[in-house]
Amino acid sequence: AESVLITQQSHEELYKVLNFNKTAEPSQQRLVVISVSPQSRASLAARFQLTPLDTAKKLTAFFKNRGVHYVFDTTFSRNFSLLESQREFVQRFRRHTESKQALPMLASACPGWICYAEKTHGSFIIPYISTTKSPQQIMGSLVKDHFAQQQHLTPDKIYHVTVMPCYDKKLEASRPDFFNQEYQTRDVDCVITTGEILRLLEQEGISLSDVDPAPLDAEFNSVSGEELLGHQGGGSGGYLEHIFRYAAQELFGIQVDGITYKPLKNKDFQEVTLEKDGTILLHFALAYGFRNIQNLVQKLKRGKSPYHYVEVMACPSGCLNGGGQIKAEAISSKDLLQQIEKLYEMVRTVMPETSPEIKELYEQWLKGENSKEARKTLHTQYHAVEKMSSGFNIKW
Ligand code: SF4
Repeated sequence: AESVLITQQSHEELYKVLNFNKTAEPSQQRLVVISVSPQSRASLAARFQLTPLDTAKKLTAFFKNRGVHYVFDTTFSRNFSLLESQREFVQRFRRHTESKQALPMLASACPGWICYAEKTHGSFIIPYISTTKSPQQIMGSLVKDHFAQQQHLTPDKIYHVTVMPCYDKKLEASRPDFFNQEYQTRDVDCVITTGEILRLLEQEGISLSDVDPAPLDAEFNSVSGEELLGHQGGGSGGYLEHIFRYAAQELFGIQVDGITYKPLKNKDFQEVTLEKDGTILLHFALAYGFRNIQNLVQKLKRGKSPYHYVEVMACPSGCLNGGGQIKAEAISSKDLLQQIEKLYEMVRTVMPETSPEIKELYEQWLKGENSKEARKTLHTQYHAVEKMSSGFNIKW
């Protein structure tokens, strides 16, 4: 079933929708929206030797020339993911001291890790996983709910595509939790990897460098004037840094300026602590790649994990090095990754709390921060996969 989903969610599927729109009655057409991840943008920028801003503008022009209506940026929806994750952490930490909720809280934005956790450690691990949706799935809700209402369309009249560094994002998009039963449509209809975008350009004989740039759509983008905006922290979104700073302030009244990572066994397993008078107040870690994840889970199972929060990602070096990114050609994979990291970090960082658009959306769309609506829309659930003796899965 997984391979069928992956073939369905391809650039051919996007082209089918765009071609259908050309000849169909207006009432039958679907509004086509593409949300591009900052990791994919950095990978394309490295491939075509462009700045991230030029890449965003040229990609927007390329898609719009083919009939796409809107091009958004998932950096925008990551604001919600970061804000919800930091609030969720503080709540868990407070409840934990009353022994009511499991710590460490484990990050939830990586579907590679989530599938592994559900299938291999099922009900043991689920209580630890943050319920906050990933930026891709929050963008899904934003587009199929708020944006659809703005456009006076039902969610099934929008075809929503994301461009991601990762094949596992296709599986995430097809989870039943993100399927709208009422309108029989997904929050994200189709996920195309960065490498598939390159193939699509090559098939059309187009170099992104030669495309004339188009202005970025003003909504659901992270731009300020002629500048792109991003978030602090590594290429997987900076969850650890945001939660750490927020929790230090909120729980202990301590303002954190610089964050120092201490590498443990390797550079993909590092930790950060907040200490006062020789006592560790906060103990965070990042664990990237399956070797480090397995170590972490073993520690948890033996009751030996000292952590309050762990940013878990399945790929070594995180999403910038995802399996769906463009492969190295003339240079080594290591040098390419360094280039991509540099391009990703070129974007000016801002705190999600300072975004007036996000504040407004919390009020208008979600009836306020911490509201029932925000919890329902921005959070999800996980499912332990019980295996029958034959090895068939009986539940997602
Ligand atoms: Fe995908 Fe890898 Fe990022 Fe996980 S770490 S979301 S598997 S690219």
